[in-house]
Amino acid sequence: MPLLKSWIVSANTPDTDFPLNNLPYGVFSTDDTDDDDPHCGIAIGDQILDVTYLEQEGIIGVGEDFVFDVPFWNIFMEEGPKAWAVFRAEITDLLREGGNPLLREDPDLRAAALIPMERAVLHMPFAVAEYTDFYAGRHHATNVGTMFRGPENALPPNWLHIPIGYNGRASSVIVSNTDVRRPLGQLKPHGTDTPVFAACRRFDFELEMGAIVGQPSEGMVSVADADAMIFGYVLLNDWSARDIQAWEYQPLGPFQAKATATTISPWIVTAAALEPFRTSTPAREVPLLPYLREPGPMLYDIALEVALQPEGAAKETVISRTNYKEMYYSAAQQLCHHTTSGCPMQVGDLLGSGTISGPQKPNRGSLLELSWGGKEPLTLDSGETRSFVEDGDTVTLRGAALGEGYRIGFGSAVGRVLPAPDVPDWAK
Ligand code: CA
Repeated sequence: MPLLKSWIVSANTPDTDFPLNNLPYGVFSTDDTDDDDPHCGIAIGDQILDVTYLEQEGIIGVGEDFVFDVPFWNIFMEEGPKAWAVFRAEITDLLREGGNPLLREDPDLRAAALIPMERAVLHMPFAVAEYTDFYAGRHHATNVGTMFRGPENALPPNWLHIPIGYNGRASSVIVSNTDVRRPLGQLKPHGTDTPVFAACRRFDFELEMGAIVGQPSEGMVSVADADAMIFGYVLLNDWSARDIQAWEYQPLGPFQAKATATTISPWIVTAAALEPFRTSTPAREVPLLPYLREPGPMLYDIALEVALQPEGAAKETVISRTNYKEMYYSAAQQLCHHTTSGCPMQVGDLLGSGTISGPQKPNRGSLLELSWGGKEPLTLDSGETRSFVEDGDTVTLRGAALGEGYRIGFGSAVGRVLPAPDVPDWAK
């Protein structure tokens, strides 16, 4: 698939995250227009195409009713895969070189419908119905299992058979550039026998991809049908309180350790844009049960990195580089497994992939792994060291599928960590 050329020049440069091949969906506002309510928009080069405005003006339309008069893409998602494809073709034609001249040749319409990205504030792109997080990265599960249980018991006996997950909290999913406050919680400091209620001391990030469910389900769905239900993907940082987690996780899994915040990138990169980058999950060590077998490649080749910048530091340090294709289970397999209980899935459900670590140390997707539980602190470019995230640190996730002369970029998922709140007197 070559670069699709747009008449918007900035969309044709090899370093833009948002060429015409991408067309990711977001929600934005500006404070210098008559209408400062958040609108639905599509990133194209260094501009945002205001689709709420274009729908109001009758220039584009999806189905019978307005779908973009709300500050989220859920109503559009409900329209289903056929409508998604028709709309994408219509927008592509509006923006491509030699396509529909309606916007290209009307300076007033162009000025009203194209907003420079630098003037926009980005919001949550969809309303999160429910949030589930998985544990589907083999290198991550092996690393964490080795630290917690020793190398002989690193992978739990079910791990090669089931995409393990837990039901998380939709209420604390936040968009990039929202600050994250270090949590308080019950934890048992290392080397002591007594739990305390205190600020988390081992706060961490987890580099993940989030899959967005775009169609509802009733009853069990196959892996192939699950794949078709997935609308798109975002970068996802599953902030994790390791000391709270270590004390609380047995026997029911993570709870408060994972409930503080989950940061996502602001642009939904559609499954359609990622289609040329499909790749297979790795070879199976033990065969999967038939219901979980994939009929085709359902992972994606997406290069990922994590950067950390301490408060006051001149620049960030890239501390990890890995790829989504390292996962053992695809989002389609996870979604299929999620429905086996009969659990209905909803439009706007968010599925975290699990931490994406690669085979080598520089490919690890969390500080827990990078510093090996704090035993091998990481040295940043500034000379500072890190075992876990400190107050004032900014953690940035980035990702892109790399084509010939273009990239399908995700933008970034950025979060700065603020100090924990004081422990209230009545809790002391
Ligand atoms: Ca996670």
